[in-house]
Amino acid sequence: MSTANDLLASAQAVVEDLVAANRILYRQKVVDGFGHVSARHPLDPERFLMSQSKAPGSVERSDILVYGLDGEAIEAPGRRLYLERYIHSAIYAARPDVMAVVHSHSPAVIPFGVTDVPLRPVMHVCGFLGEHVPVFEIRAAAGPATDLLIRSQALGIAMARALGTAPVVLMRGHGSTAVGTSVAHAVYRAVYTEVNARLQADAMRLGPVNFLTPDEALAAAETNAAPNVLTRIWDLWKSEAQS
Ligand SMILES: [Zn+2]
Repeated sequence: MSTANDLLASAQAVVEDLVAANRILYRQKVVDGFGHVSARHPLDPERFLMSQSKAPGSVERSDILVYGLDGEAIEAPGRRLYLERYIHSAIYAARPDVMAVVHSHSPAVIPFGVTDVPLRPVMHVCGFLGEHVPVFEIRAAAGPATDLLIRSQALGIAMARALGTAPVVLMRGHGSTAVGTSVAHAVYRAVYTEVNARLQADAMRLGPVNFLTPDEALAAAETNAAPNVLTRIWDLWKSEAQS
């Protein structure tokens, strides 16, 4: 069995992307002192990589740890772990297609988790939101007196079930979680989920909203998931985050 050091050494490019993703998400105001981003190990699908418990804007390469799909870190004595690491472990276990996960409390999204107004795509770069963005209701899984956090694998599994095959799940009274096929893809979706929420609320104040049709959303999502499109915005964000 590989050691944590071997697993980190064989995933250097992903480790670098993760460090950049933490800083980008902070610069883009998706995360503040809270929130986290992870990536599945590129060679070992039963492992994922994520920082120790730390504010995302200050994450460095030495903070990245290896985790198992039970949510526990491997060979990390003395390191403090994110309470909500089970969001990541449960999604990687449930969704073989997912290679990266972003969990945040980005503010514009919150109203769509606590009202009956669905989050729907209002512009082309947000087409990935599709026809229906699911909302996770923690009361249905754990009763009326939780602190809203995903503190166990069982809660992570319940949340992953609500996510289903979607790219994003809203978490009532808490935040949201976006997934993708790469770190850049998940970061893109997290950033533009927040952008769409802000624009949708603005549009609704003006009058009835003309949303993207499901076919428009699908076509736009395919265009924007193309590697050359993603790379353009990712490289820009990355250079900004390093400055
Ligand atoms: Zn949270």
